[in-house]
Amino acid sequence: MRLSWIKLAGFKSFADLVAFQLPGQRVGVVGPNGCGKSNIIDAVRWVLGESKASELRGESMQDVIFSGSATRKPAGRCSVELVFDNSDHRITGSFGQYTEIAVKRVLTRDGTSSYFINGQVVRRRDVQDIFLGTGLGPRAYAIIGQGTISRIIESRPEELRVLLEEAAGVSKYKERRRETENR
Ligand code: ATP
Ligand code: MG
Repeated sequence: MRLSWIKLAGFKSFADLVAFQLPGQRVGVVGPNGCGKSNIIDAVRWVLGESKASELRGESMQDVIFSGSATRKPAGRCSVELVFDNSDHRITGSFGQYTEIAVKRVLTRDGTSSYFINGQVVRRRDVQDIFLGTGLGPRAYAIIGQGTISRIIESRPEELRVLLEEAAGVSKYKERRRETENR
């Protein structure tokens, strides 16, 4: 499983549609302070279901929508799409048969948030579900932000266990069991 495209429109500083293709195994993003490098990572965590504005360096969720500039009016909505190459079928479940999986989230100024997988309307939890056990999620270890390492080192045993269970692929089954027990 490999992230091959990140497409942003109206998200934070990206007023227009910007599509980043991620070729090869290693990609570096460089640019001056404030040019939007961290906004790209915020976008990845947002589309994966992050629902806490402060985790995305904002005060309210609508802060992720382009707020306008001297020459541009604010956007009415924003969208982020991640395209994964799933030729190794690491993503399993109802979308597991696809070799390419596009996950998209759209938010409008009135607060309506919607999620899509390969163009099909899904719930937030469906998005989180397909990545369970892959290490990818709004707060999972595939994204190592500033301060993450020290947070792991200083975490309490029960927090550390959550990380280890995700790495070992156990979290997926725990979630299934929790669902079954709650039925
Ligand atoms: P550094 O090198 O300092 O870490 P960076 O490249 O990571 O910088 P970001 O933090 O990604 O920069 O981008 C910050 C910029 O994004 C700021 O100029 C801020 O005004 C702009 N920005 C954030 N949210 C919005 C928004 N909703 N609308 C328009 N611009 C926004
Ligand atoms: Mg930054």
